[in-house]
Amino acid sequence: MTKKEAVFIDRDHCISCGDGNLKELSGGLFGDAPLREFIENDPWGENPMPYIEHKKWSYVQCINCRQMFHRYILSNEWNEVRFSEWMTQEAMEKFEESIQTPASDFNKAKQHVEHILRIEKMSLELRGDSPVRILDFGCGWGEFLAMCERFGFSGYGIDRSSERRQQGKHLNIFPEIEELVMEEGSTNFFHVITLFEVLEHLDEPLILLKSLSRLLAPGGILIVETPDCSDVTDIKDEMSYRKIHPLDHINGFTPDTLRNIVQRAGFRSVQPHISHVSTDRTKVIKTEIKQLLAWLTNDKIQQYFQKK
Ligand SMILES: [Zn+2]
Repeated sequence: MTKKEAVFIDRDHCISCGDGNLKELSGGLFGDAPLREFIENDPWGENPMPYIEHKKWSYVQCINCRQMFHRYILSNEWNEVRFSEWMTQEAMEKFEESIQTPASDFNKAKQHVEHILRIEKMSLELRGDSPVRILDFGCGWGEFLAMCERFGFSGYGIDRSSERRQQGKHLNIFPEIEELVMEEGSTNFFHVITLFEVLEHLDEPLILLKSLSRLLAPGGILIVETPDCSDVTDIKDEMSYRKIHPLDHINGFTPDTLRNIVQRAGFRSVQPHISHVSTDRTKVIKTEIKQLLAWLTNDKIQQYFQKK
């Protein structure tokens, strides 16, 4: 017995510049090796393979601006199926456990503190004596917001998962931008907005960037993190699968294409201040070198912008 096939929509224009001139970098069927094995080895609620094995995936690049993305993405209706039946809360927790180590927890918390120290300095002129008003879009369980609160910031989050909103460590978590605006009532409200591992998941990342820009005060700071897909043009090993998983990581950014799309939404790039999470002089120097190296070599892209 065959199951009903999932419905995919065709993004036949560039998600960044809108150009229709696209080149396929790689593609095939979801049921082909090695993609089939990678998908089947992930933890799922219900296994999605019977719904997608005959469907095509195609990773393309815009000839005009070099932005890379998956051309075929799940329809809204099937995305609901993905979140309610396939990527269930339980399956996601199992996956998080499989990649979480004491070292990864430490590094995550350390990076949070580094962002907070930079934000505190960079927003000083904008907010004067008032506390930093920060929005973490796609805040998950709210770990970053909880840390922000410890530093006296006024934190808000947006997350689509109701489990996360209810169990999250933070109270000001909304399901959608509209509901946040209804509650707080104004544009230009925030000094800082963070987008950690969000843009690679969105059908229309430019539209989100533009609506976030309206929430930010002129001169406000936007911090964006995505995986670095500079060296990925095909799904051939575990690493490339993680970076451009065609059901999940549907947009692949390089430092250049990430900068381009954010600039298109009305931002300019800024150099972040170096932050030190130590008072030991030699450690401070090492941190500085490590952070500089991270900007050059890390497989995560981390960029700071300012609203014009
Ligand atoms: Zn383009």
